[in-house]
Amino acid sequence: MTEPGSGNVRVRFAPSPTGYLHIGGARTVLFNWLLARKSGGSFVLRIEDTDRTRHVDDSVQKILADLRWLGLTWDEGPEAGGDVGPYFQSERLPIYNEYLAKLLASGDAYYAMETPEELQAMREKARTEKRVLSYDRPNPLPTIEQGESARKDGRPVVVRFKMPGEDITVHDDILGDVTLASGQIEDFVIQKSDGFPTYHFACVVDDELMKITHVLRGQEHLMNTPKHVAMQRALGFATFHYAHMPVIFNMNGSKMSKRDKEKALKKGEPPPEIDVNDFRVAGYLPEAVVNFIALLGWNPGDEREHFSLDELVKTFTMERVGKTNAKFDREKLLAFNTNWAASLDFDRLFEAFCDYLSVATDIPQGVRDADEAKLRDALKACLGLRIFPDVVKKVGFVFAPDSDTEYDPKAVKKVLAKNDGAGFAMLELVSAKLETLADWSTSSIEQLIKDVCEEKEIKMGNVAQPLRVAVSGSTISPAIGETLVLLGKDSTLARIRKCLTIRDTQ
Ligand code: GLU
Repeated sequence: MTEPGSGNVRVRFAPSPTGYLHIGGARTVLFNWLLARKSGGSFVLRIEDTDRTRHVDDSVQKILADLRWLGLTWDEGPEAGGDVGPYFQSERLPIYNEYLAKLLASGDAYYAMETPEELQAMREKARTEKRVLSYDRPNPLPTIEQGESARKDGRPVVVRFKMPGEDITVHDDILGDVTLASGQIEDFVIQKSDGFPTYHFACVVDDELMKITHVLRGQEHLMNTPKHVAMQRALGFATFHYAHMPVIFNMNGSKMSKRDKEKALKKGEPPPEIDVNDFRVAGYLPEAVVNFIALLGWNPGDEREHFSLDELVKTFTMERVGKTNAKFDREKLLAFNTNWAASLDFDRLFEAFCDYLSVATDIPQGVRDADEAKLRDALKACLGLRIFPDVVKKVGFVFAPDSDTEYDPKAVKKVLAKNDGAGFAMLELVSAKLETLADWSTSSIEQLIKDVCEEKEIKMGNVAQPLRVAVSGSTISPAIGETLVLLGKDSTLARIRKCLTIRDTQ
């Protein structure tokens, strides 16, 4: 793609409010945002809410929240304002009507009054004649007066754009010239019978009035572009830069889509993360998600893979956006997340962890209510984590009441009951020593365990594992010293006492 010069670049992201932001949509936003930031231009957010049948309540707020979570701020749009608003298409009907009137007057658009039955009959005829296009342009075309009076009579009247009978070539900055031969697109609806414009028409008018210079969107929109260019020509608008990005596929070669979730649920499998919010709730870091999606269709031209948003702004160029479809490798995303969790500054990691706790649905109450200092220590004890649920799994027990500890029978058998209850005996011995330990710190606890090991000529694990099972119920916890410090002396001793009561049941 021709790299935009500095200054006047204006790009936009134009979501339809039909739910959460899809990960593919996030990639579209990211590349547009990078283009704007790189060139010192503006990133516009426009809400394409003219299809009332697909509108989902709250989705605008959800999309804004997803963008904020990713760190992709917009210069103009909802809540930010701007000079070329309103930025909700549903508030721009008078503007569309003005341009619609122009197209009707110039004969580039016409009122169409076919009933649903007539349209269905056309489709059937086309099917039997094996034609792809079904709509037959009426001859003669209804006049403006006929259309308006039919509307007044309450008949369903739409406005259709009259496709010019010529080939349309669009230059795509990624794909090169894309030509659509004449006769490949039928006269399409630009205003529906409810008076709202269709996506195609509103998009063309708004891109012009919002002074957009580069449209960067998914390849699923490629065949819409000739329609848009035809309307631009009829309206006397200029055609700006277009670039269509590769489609994102699952590793098995199917297209990554929202329907993947339903399919998985039907098979009784856990639904895969598809929307940005799914990744947030699943405990991924926005840094990792952004870094990962940047590489879906773009590469820096060398081996580098770790990019923050700032580094992406420096490195990103449209020239390195490829044509080939991108594969969404979840293993790789997990590896990215693990790396990011290890490289982030601790305060930022903790902030992201708190965000996770606020959005995830299955966080135990004790963890939700935990005080900040203790939560910080818990997160520190879990460094090396892959995703945030790992932390809750590993230290969640610390925040539960002592009386809630449930013992995993397998762990009890293996670690405590085996060899005539050697683990239980070890617990008795160590708890007596812990009781007299004045300084309840990681180093003192570790020293105490070391001393026991030396005295008894045994390995660390013979002491640490029984303690771990006693206080957590399982064999999973952070390092034993850190675990006991997190729990505190009273809870540690109370849990060991509780554990010793199950000895007789073994
Ligand atoms: N509202 C359209 C969508 O969500 C925008 C497409 C475009 O970028 O032109 O798919």
